Amino acid sequence: MATETRPLRFATQAVHAGAAPDPATGARVQPIYFTNGFVFESTEQAADIFAMRRTGFSYSRGSNPTVAALERRVATLEGAKAAVAVSSGQSALLLVLMTLMKSGDAYVASPRLFGGSLGLMNRLDARYDLKPLFAKGLTPADFEATITPQTKAIVCESIVNPCATVMDIAGIAEVAKRHNLPLVVDNTLASPALIRPIEHGADIVFHSTSKFLGGSGQTIGGIICDAGTFDWPAAVGRYNLITEPWADYDGLVVSDRFPDFSFAVACRLFGLRDLGPGLSPMNAFLTLTGIETLPLRMKRHCQNAKAVAAFLKDHPAVAWVSYPALPGQKGEELAARYVPDGPGSIFTFALKGGEPAAVKFIMGLELVSHLVNIGEIKSLAIHPATTTHRQLSAADKAAALVGPETVRLSIGLENVEDLIADIAQALDQVDA
Ligand SMILES: *Cc1c(COP(=O)(O)O)cnc(C)c1O
Repeated sequence: MATETRPLRFATQAVHAGAAPDPATGARVQPIYFTNGFVFESTEQAADIFAMRRTGFSYSRGSNPTVAALERRVATLEGAKAAVAVSSGQSALLLVLMTLMKSGDAYVASPRLFGGSLGLMNRLDARYDLKPLFAKGLTPADFEATITPQTKAIVCESIVNPCATVMDIAGIAEVAKRHNLPLVVDNTLASPALIRPIEHGADIVFHSTSKFLGGSGQTIGGIICDAGTFDWPAAVGRYNLITEPWADYDGLVVSDRFPDFSFAVACRLFGLRDLGPGLSPMNAFLTLTGIETLPLRMKRHCQNAKAVAAFLKDHPAVAWVSYPALPGQKGEELAARYVPDGPGSIFTFALKGGEPAAVKFIMGLELVSHLVNIGEIKSLAIHPATTTHRQLSAADKAAALVGPETVRLSIGLENVEDLIADIAQALDQVDA
C-alpha cells in the first residue's frame, strides 16, 4: 500500500491495515492459520526465536499470523506502535495490570468503571495486594489527589460502561505525565472510530473486542495497544519487567532491545508465553472482518442511540436518561469535545416506578434482546444492578449510577422507528 506518500484515512485503514493478499496463494481475505506450531528452518533459528534474538512464529500461544493481522490493524486504528491480542477484555486488563505491577504496588483507578473491571481489581487487591486507589470523582484533579508514592499507573475508561460518561482523557493524561505514570485507557465503548485515546495522551489502550470491534456478538476477545510514548528508562527500577534484565532470556532488557514498543513485548512475553490467555485465530479472523465495517456501524449506532435517548427523556415513565449527547445533560461539554459523532450507543436510563418497572420494561421488550453483551448490531437491554454490577457494594453501585431502577441499553443498527416502537410498547406495559 502506498502509505508513505499518501497516509490512509481511518475508513481505509479499517478495511486494509495489517492484512494484504496472501503471497503464497493470492487469497484476498486474511487466511485463518489454524496451526499451533511453525516449522523452524534450523536449530539456530529456533533458539534465536526462543531467546528473542529474532522475531518469528514458533507457537500460537505467543503469536500467530492471523492474530498478528488483527494486532496490526487495531494498532494502526489506535495510532499505536504495537498491539497484543488476548482471549477476552478481562484478560486484557489483567495482563496490563500484571505486566506493569507486582504485589505491593498501587494504581489510581476511575471510580466509574465496567463492573467486571471493578470485580477484577478488587479480587487482585484481596489476593495479590495489587491495590486500586479509586479517585473520589471524575475530574483530573480528583485523579491527581489520589496518587501515592506506590502508584504505578492510572486507569480509566474513555466512555464509561454503562452510563456513557465521557472522561476527560487529555486532562487525566496531563496528570499522568506530571507524575511520570503511564495512562491506561479502556476504549471499549468508544472504539477508535469515536475516540483515539493516544491522540489525547494515553500510553496504553485496551479493548474488549467482544463489543464494537467484533460488532456482531460472535466472539469474545481483547487487545492491548502500546502507544510507545511512555519513557520507561526514565522510570528505571519501577517497572522491572520492562527495564530490568530477564535472567531466563540471557539478560534481555526489554526497553533496550525493543525501545519503540517495550510494553507490548513485555505483555507478550509475560502475559502470553507465561500466563497464556491467547486469542484463537478463528476469533481473530471474525474480529478482523467486523472491524472492516466499524466506521459505518459507529455512525449509525450513535444516530440510533441519540434518537432513542431523546425519546426516553420525554417519556412520562422515565425518571432520567444518562446520554451526554442530549442537551442539558451532565458531561455534555466533554461529550461535545471528545465525541462530536456521539458518545456511542450504550447508556442507562431510570424508571420512575423503580425496580418493578425496570423488570417489567425489560420483560416487555420484543425486538430488543435481554442479554448481557453490548456493542452488537442487535439492540440489547439488561438490568445492571442484578447482573453486570451485582457483585458491587451499594456504594460502588451508586458511583456507577446503577440503582435498582436503572436499565442499560445497547442500541443496535435496526431501523430506529422500529426500535422506538418496541421501547414505547414496553413502556406502555410499565404505565399500566
Ligand atoms: C465487556 C467489557 C470488558 C470485558 O470484556 P470481555 O471481552 O467481556 O472479557 C472490559 N471493559 C469494558 C468497558 C467492557 O464493556
